[in-house]
Amino acid sequence: MEKVITLVIPAYNEEHNLPVLVKKLSDFFQQYSRYRFECIIVDDGSTDHSREVIKKLSAEYKWLYYLFLSRNFGKDIAMKAGIDQARGDAIITMDADGQHPLDLIPRFIQEWESGYDVVYAYRKEASDHYTYMQRLRSRLFYVIASKLTDLDMEEGLSDFRLFSRRVAQIITQFQDKELFLRAIFKWIGFKQKGVPYQPLQREYGTTKYTLRSLIRLSLQGITSFSVKPLNMAIYLGLTISILSSLYIPYVIWSFMYNHPISGWASMIVTIAFFGGLQLMILGIIGIYIGKLFIQTQFHPPYIIESTNMQSASYLHSYT
Ligand code: UDP
Ligand code: MG
Repeated sequence: MEKVITLVIPAYNEEHNLPVLVKKLSDFFQQYSRYRFECIIVDDGSTDHSREVIKKLSAEYKWLYYLFLSRNFGKDIAMKAGIDQARGDAIITMDADGQHPLDLIPRFIQEWESGYDVVYAYRKEASDHYTYMQRLRSRLFYVIASKLTDLDMEEGLSDFRLFSRRVAQIITQFQDKELFLRAIFKWIGFKQKGVPYQPLQREYGTTKYTLRSLIRLSLQGITSFSVKPLNMAIYLGLTISILSSLYIPYVIWSFMYNHPISGWASMIVTIAFFGGLQLMILGIIGIYIGKLFIQTQFHPPYIIESTNMQSASYLHSYT
């Protein structure tokens, strides 16, 4: 029997990109008919006409399914919603904006057929259509994230990947409210293979990620995979304690020999400095407590507003 491969595509305000992508997919599927492809577009609460566009396309292409989430849940949650419903022997996640080249899919499939459970694409080298700042921040992100999580994430690691049925089943079991799939895929293990690629230019629109959302995302990602920031507080505190205890003999000596120690300015600076440091560490602790709180709420991770998948298990859906 021919194997089924399900593509999961999260889309947020991609009304112009989706028709282009679906057309390309259709051509590709015809060429590559050794497998039966199907595609789940997960609309992540788009505010443009994406939904009308998707509905129209799904009437035209029988292999096209959609899930409309009730609001914007973020890319990772949207991908998981699709993965939860995907039935293929292999599942491929890719972006809707045309940045992930379809030519890579045969390679993915080939690696999967030869025994890899996860095949993922990572950016070979930053190409010209990324600005210097974008490159800098992506490098910083991966260096910090890899160091803090011990997960060895390549720079330019993308969400363009293929994985086996059994890995999909494992991903489905994740109940994390804040999902960071790039790290989760590293964390689960199995035989994995990275394939370098050159991302294409986004067809329409601009990236959905601003510097602010990237910072939030990295904080989120790091703190959901590691408690190292908490340990850092211990070492920082210890170091500062030792340093300040070295200062004590000097103070005693000064008193003994009656050298008055002046220092209003240094006192204020010290108080302000440590005040800031303490607030920062409180903030880090706060992030972890906030996570505990969010994770203990019994909210569904996402809500499916409507879908055309007859056989969908309506686990988190209230249609
Ligand atoms: N996306 C989404 N929900 C969001 C933000 C983005 O589903 O809240 C989708 C978006 O439509 C695209 C993919 O995630 O298909 C990648 O987004 P984008 O191109 O903005 O990110 P970048 O390529 O800059 O990492
Ligand atoms: Mg993009």
